[in-house]
Amino acid sequence: EYLSNKIAAGEVVERPASIVKELVENSIDANSSSILIEVEEGGLQKIRIVDNGDGMDEEDCLLAFHRHATSKIRTDKDLFRIRTLGFRGEALPSIASVSNLQLKTCTGTGAGTVVVIEGGKIIEHGSSPSRKGTDITITHLFYNTPARLKYLKTIHTELGNITDFVYRLALAHPTISFRLDHNGKKVFSSNGNGDLKQVIAAIYGMNIAKQLLYFENSSLDFKISGYACKPEVTRASRQYMSTFINYRYIKNFSLSRAIQDGYHTLLPIGRYPVVVLHIEMDPTLIDVNVHPSKLEVRLSKEEELTKLVTDTIKATFKQVQL
Ligand code: ADP
Ligand code: MG
Repeated sequence: EYLSNKIAAGEVVERPASIVKELVENSIDANSSSILIEVEEGGLQKIRIVDNGDGMDEEDCLLAFHRHATSKIRTDKDLFRIRTLGFRGEALPSIASVSNLQLKTCTGTGAGTVVVIEGGKIIEHGSSPSRKGTDITITHLFYNTPARLKYLKTIHTELGNITDFVYRLALAHPTISFRLDHNGKKVFSSNGNGDLKQVIAAIYGMNIAKQLLYFENSSLDFKISGYACKPEVTRASRQYMSTFINYRYIKNFSLSRAIQDGYHTLLPIGRYPVVVLHIEMDPTLIDVNVHPSKLEVRLSKEEELTKLVTDTIKATFKQVQL
């Protein structure tokens, strides 16, 4: 099992940012309302995630390090109704196989559990007094896969990747407070008060946030809402358009096309709008199982959705011009 974990690690946890992503998604799945992410040296030295979520009891905690021991899929049908972010049960065993890991967790009743894992083996296991939630610390990342270490880019690049992930998660979940520290200094925080515009301001700055228009609309199968910038503040990068389906960051070519179509001729060539688009829909209309990274999705009823998005953004500007 150790070897297959290490092989799976090559896909699931290829760099510090992917580890941060997997761990923070677990915290979100566990209903946390506050998540602290501490990284040192771009995550290569240390990654620590502290959440206030459901926690695990001792049995679940030990089970979590076995492959495909996900608690999130109980029947085949669940695969098609995925609401949680993780569902493969691969992340924890994979991460544990390429690092040293300490996990403290508590469900809020009874004693908490602490486990220390090195090279995929549990070397310490006991009970720990702790508050409700989970506290995971990863060190010596990729110590036993030197090739991986060599190909990782600079600390600066790794921190950039981690920051981008945290931004997306904060945009996806305005009701969760996130804090990211690098080498003991705060890089980003969101307050979790549910105001998406404040999250956007914390990421892109007040100047952009001031130029945003709120929109919401719905059709038979979809509910959309979010913020779209006035055409004057378009950007030279498509990075500023982000789309979330049922609180999950996704990439879909037709959707970003639909956003741009909403601006029609207002968008100069090579310019892209700042748009944060949230879509709520029946999860059975999405196929998230396309790629392990779970970013690209295929959609049923795509035309209905793209039309809704384009029409809504168009109408938002019409209102301003009146
Ligand atoms: P998956 O997320 O695909 O189920 P993981 O390997 O990421 O698989 O996690 C394994 C299991 O460990 C999860 O199903 C969950 O039950 C538990 N778990 C992991 N992280 C946390 C956390 N922060 N809080 C509570 N439970 C967790
Ligand atoms: Mg997971």
